[in-house]
Amino acid sequence: MEALITLLPGDGIGPEVTAAAHRVLKEVATRFEHNFEFDVQLIGGSAIDATGEPLPEDTVASCERSDAVFLGAVGGPKWSDPNAAVRPEQGLLNLRSVLGVYANLRPVKVIDELISASPLKPEILDGVDMIVVRELTGGIYFGEKIREATFATDVCRYQTDEIERIVRMAARLAEGRRGKLCSVDKANVLETSRLWRDVTSRLLRDEFPRIEVETLLVDAAAMHLLKRPRDFDVIVTENMFGDILTDEASMLVGSLGMLPSASLGDSRRGLYEPIHGSAPDIAGQGIANPCGAIASAALLLRHSLGLNAEANAIEAAITSALAGGARTADIAETGLGHASTTEMVDRIVSALREVE
Ligand code: NAD
Repeated sequence: MEALITLLPGDGIGPEVTAAAHRVLKEVATRFEHNFEFDVQLIGGSAIDATGEPLPEDTVASCERSDAVFLGAVGGPKWSDPNAAVRPEQGLLNLRSVLGVYANLRPVKVIDELISASPLKPEILDGVDMIVVRELTGGIYFGEKIREATFATDVCRYQTDEIERIVRMAARLAEGRRGKLCSVDKANVLETSRLWRDVTSRLLRDEFPRIEVETLLVDAAAMHLLKRPRDFDVIVTENMFGDILTDEASMLVGSLGMLPSASLGDSRRGLYEPIHGSAPDIAGQGIANPCGAIASAALLLRHSLGLNAEANAIEAAITSALAGGARTADIAETGLGHASTTEMVDRIVSALREVE
């Protein structure tokens, strides 16, 4: 297969983990005889430094030409002045809008070898394998905002079609998995949640009658995620609830550095990035965990290029490297040595060469 992939390394550890994903994608291309072309472009703080813009025109043009976009991370103290006219995060928000991606998929799968890295008890974590689908372009983050001297308002707004498209995407994912979908809202208090619940119940009843549906209030969902995480297959929820629940869910796996994400819309082209930020505290030290970025490359192959076997091979290689004892500092057991980013990638690439 021929494919053009835009790489946006960004800031902080972004370039380090993007280099890791790039190396693994090149290895996949060799092993499975594909022709991947890569176009590296600027985004975020490094783009502001070079061009004055967090999302330069050349970057937009490259993303629009490409089959998929991979992002490292954006942001950092250098660009975080609250009074700054341009900020790195604007680049990411604009990129999501340019690409029309409205669903953020975050798979949370506990790897046996890392159970000890999580603060939760092993018996709760065994067999956890879920995907959280978060609405990405609506809700309170995007509604009207007012700030006066003594009051402030954030408007939360949702339209029926915004709810339908994300619930449909989540239900299709559930059909390809264990057939269970949990919708999370706050319908006892919020009008937007009552709309969410009405639309979700009707759509699932009419279009996906075979799916097993559970509905939870967000406060209860936060508790059930820690009490019985194994029961969840696909969770779908609105923007802010998804933001909070996915950070909570990342702790099931032990480190922010482990988790991948895919942002998808109606076209096949998606945006793929590890869920962590630019981690300025460890940038440039060569110790960042590249697993979330490499697992995001697997999602890119699966969702944008339809290369399932290749995606499975990457995921198996990550598990195999971990099973062989490879650990970056964030997931290493106290007192034991750990691998650098490059050494971790070496272990994953050699495991990839051996995966059946
Ligand atoms: P962060 O995710 O960058 O870091 C939180 C903690 O996790 C830090 O201690 C960091 O060292 C550690 N960590 C993160 N990724 C790791 C990895 N791969 N390996 C090992 N350890 C890792 O969050 P933060 O510190 O709140 O934010 C730093 C900057 O990143 C801010 O400017 C923020 O706006 C930005 N940010 C960007 C994105 C994005 O680009 N999508 C997401 C979140 C935060």
